[in-house]
Amino acid sequence: MKLPIYLDYNATTPVDPRVVEAMMPFFTDTFGNSASIDHQHGAYASEAVEKARATIAATINARPEEIIFTSGATESDNLALIGVMEANEDRGDHLVTCRTEHPAVLETATYLQKRGKRVVYLDVDSTGLVDPDAIKRAITNRTVLVSIMSANNEIGTLAPLAEIGSIAHERAALFHTDATQAIGKIEIDVQKLGIDLMSFSSHKIYGPKGVGALYVRRRNPFVRLSPLLHGGGHERGVRSGTVNVAGVVGFAAAMDLAKRQLRSEQRRLSALGERLLNGILDGVEGAQLNGHVSQRLAHCVNVHIAGVENKALIVALRERLSFSAGSACATSKAEASHVLLALGYDAARSYGSIRLSIGHPTTELDVKYAVDEIVATVASIRSKFTRV
Ligand SMILES: *Cc1c(COP(=O)(O)O)cnc(C)c1O
Repeated sequence: MKLPIYLDYNATTPVDPRVVEAMMPFFTDTFGNSASIDHQHGAYASEAVEKARATIAATINARPEEIIFTSGATESDNLALIGVMEANEDRGDHLVTCRTEHPAVLETATYLQKRGKRVVYLDVDSTGLVDPDAIKRAITNRTVLVSIMSANNEIGTLAPLAEIGSIAHERAALFHTDATQAIGKIEIDVQKLGIDLMSFSSHKIYGPKGVGALYVRRRNPFVRLSPLLHGGGHERGVRSGTVNVAGVVGFAAAMDLAKRQLRSEQRRLSALGERLLNGILDGVEGAQLNGHVSQRLAHCVNVHIAGVENKALIVALRERLSFSAGSACATSKAEASHVLLALGYDAARSYGSIRLSIGHPTTELDVKYAVDEIVATVASIRSKFTRV
């Protein structure tokens, strides 16, 4: 067993060796610029990019021209929110989102507010679920966009996407979802779910970092979108800049693998996730799950361990386990998790909570080891405090 064991797959994943293999030729032999299609070098790169686009589109039941390549989900979220709100100013100025969104959505919404747009941040219940009726009530005739994440990155709670899609459409609003954590974990069909825009990222699904996509519906309705980056007019004028050819080839390979392994990995990871959760709940007195018992990504386990500071536990275990106190973005800051606060918990619960997320390389032995180590280390930290 190679230590420390990685239990932070919601933050990022290793690149699958098959993905690396698919990417390799595009760094050296096939290095062309996919926009320089007049000569063979460029044409070959362009072919690879278009093949990747078609592969990715197929995995979510979209059409190739509906996929825009970006640098990752952060950029996709920015492009979706700013691009749609700017391009549809004739239709309205109102955005509906929720308090547990990723900072890439929340901070972009705040930016839009400073630029004069109106934003509603919906509350969630104590499990992280947003109430579809609250969305219905929040939509006005000035609402352009509803943005609700598919699966939360800290607690794994899953949103009722199809229901939200139909509510948005009933009221003539567009539906964007940040599906970064859901892609490759649950089946996503943008047609069936009524999704108009969707952000996702390669490095959360065993692809390379620095590449992602925004799905933008181009039929029924044609979604208008202003660009964030201005320049040579790449990606149908929506995202200028030379395409990361090797990156998108790897991204497509990762999407394809994720799709093919979806069922078997769902089964395996939900069994392992269950074992991880129950191991901690059984072994640590007073441990409690943060999030929803069943409407949740099973590989994501966020638990509260009363009286034990998460940073102390992470440091005590750092030679043996790599896990986090919440999101990767929040771990460097001393702030309480905005997600746990939105669930109605206090800051103390947030500082006493840890997030464990498992992935393709995780084995049964890893989970057993992790549970034993966490249980023993919590006991040891607690005994130091109660000895006096
Ligand atoms: C990781 C993550 C992002 C950011 O993705 P990057 O590709 O790293 O920019 C956005 N939203 C969610 C839900 C995420 O988990």
